[in-house]
Amino acid sequence: MTLDGTNTWVLESAGQAVVIDPGPLRDGHGDAINEAITADKVTEILLTHHHNDHASGARELAEVLRCPVRALDPSLTFGAEGLQDGAAVTVGDLKLHVLATPGHTADSISFWSPQHGAVMTGDTVLGRGTTLVAHPDGQLGAYLDSLALLGALCVEHEVDAVWPGHGPVLENAAVVIDYYLAHRRERLAQVGDAIATLRHTSKWGAITREEPLTKPRELELAQAVVELVYADVDPSLWPAAQLSVQAQLQYLAETGHL
Ligand SMILES: [Zn+2]
Repeated sequence: MTLDGTNTWVLESAGQAVVIDPGPLRDGHGDAINEAITADKVTEILLTHHHNDHASGARELAEVLRCPVRALDPSLTFGAEGLQDGAAVTVGDLKLHVLATPGHTADSISFWSPQHGAVMTGDTVLGRGTTLVAHPDGQLGAYLDSLALLGALCVEHEVDAVWPGHGPVLENAAVVIDYYLAHRRERLAQVGDAIATLRHTSKWGAITREEPLTKPRELELAQAVVELVYADVDPSLWPAAQLSVQAQLQYLAETGHL
């Protein structure tokens, strides 16, 4: 699920550095981060979200580098104030803007560097493939809004590059984000079609808008949808697919399409 592992970003300016998403420090990753730092002082470690593959080594690295850890989630923050949407982090002459981009997780944020014309997206946009929006922490409505926000940022502020949490750097940010939005719409349409098919069966024919589904029924419906939409996918991937479908069902319900 991590593609080639987690990308850790070290940004330096005027003798200062920040480390974004140190990830787990095992397998030489901690040494690689230390070698990448040439600045005199690491001012802070920043986290895009709480998932272990991004955040688990943060505290240990902070103790080595004697700097704070900052994230949107206060439980990850250590030695300084947490980050807020719209805040800015200064590193030497660089300014990083914090953008709340919930959806992959509730606490997902991105960092926009106007000087680099780049946005560091964590898992909100990946270098290849697409992001898992898994129920219940993942929320599709929020995710679509976050993609729209990032898309607008790219157009309005000439942001060309996505520096993702996994996979290679993407040089055509606006195009990639459009693709992400199109992919989500396509998947939602497939789920909508699957529900329409299920409505014609005796078991699911009784689904109506007036009757909100109970939790066990919702789970059962998600399984039935997965079996239709992911029929050609290895069943070992169905549990992850089911969490994604649950997020989609919730979104369809919220927007009056279920
Ligand atoms: Zn993640």
